[in-house]
Amino acid sequence: MKDAEQLLNRLSAVHNVVVLTGAGISAESGVPTFREAQSGLWARYRPEELATREAFADHPQRVLDWYRWRRELIQKAQPNAGHTALARMEEIIHKQGGEFHLITQNVDNLHQRAGNQSVLELHGNIFQFKCFDCEKKQTPPDEMIDLPRCQACQGLLRPDVVWFGENLSAHLLEKAVAVCQQADLLFLIGTSAVVQPAASLPLYALREGAFLVEINPAPTPLSPRCDLTLRIPAGEILPELVNV
Ligand code: NAD
Ligand code: ZN
Repeated sequence: MKDAEQLLNRLSAVHNVVVLTGAGISAESGVPTFREAQSGLWARYRPEELATREAFADHPQRVLDWYRWRRELIQKAQPNAGHTALARMEEIIHKQGGEFHLITQNVDNLHQRAGNQSVLELHGNIFQFKCFDCEKKQTPPDEMIDLPRCQACQGLLRPDVVWFGENLSAHLLEKAVAVCQQADLLFLIGTSAVVQPAASLPLYALREGAFLVEINPAPTPLSPRCDLTLRIPAGEILPELVNV
């Protein structure tokens, strides 16, 4: 494919590569995106009714059960060809003496499991916990305890992810902005580009003259700003870019 060839050339000459991923990169691993209908028991809830502070305060057991279900689903899933290609891309860029940063909105740990080293988890990690009250990070003594409590203040433990209506860590966001400002080439992969502030990150790269590539079967609000849009599933096109 011609676009892939051109991108290959660009990749071999480039210094600073940034990849921003969303739920779409994990879709081919069988991890549903938020836009897809939830299945089984959870079909009657929208994620907005489960992934908020209010939902947790009102129904902590329901929210924790939903997260346990998602953790189990993710644990059974495997990194797909798209994840693996991004791990390979990091190696290739490093071998060229360049810099590579992956910024993800996903909480599923699949990039790390695929082998990527430099991962900025904007929205946290579903396998980690913190206290709902004092925010101290900690691991529940037993996965199966229904309502695990904080060792410091006895508050309830919640997943260490960013819920709707919550702010990202200022430090992480600053780092992500800085990384984007340095990018020569930025890939926007599998994100609907509507959840802020992640959706604005590519604009920092664009402002500094980066080449922007979108990989997504569906258009997004950022599509018109991209130099190249590839309407192909990530797991199909990414391996072509790293020749695996
Ligand atoms: P989203 O659900 O809003 O959008 C997913 C995007 O991926 C869509 O634009 C869709 O067209 C695209 N897509 C679907 N299949 C694809 C494929 N095979 N290759 C490339 N693109 C594909 O996801 P979002 O933009 O990440 O925002 C939703 C929020 O939900 C995020 O904040 C994220 O933290 C959270 N979330 C995370 C996970 C996860 O960790 N795997 C799963 C669901 C939701
Ligand atoms: Zn606490």
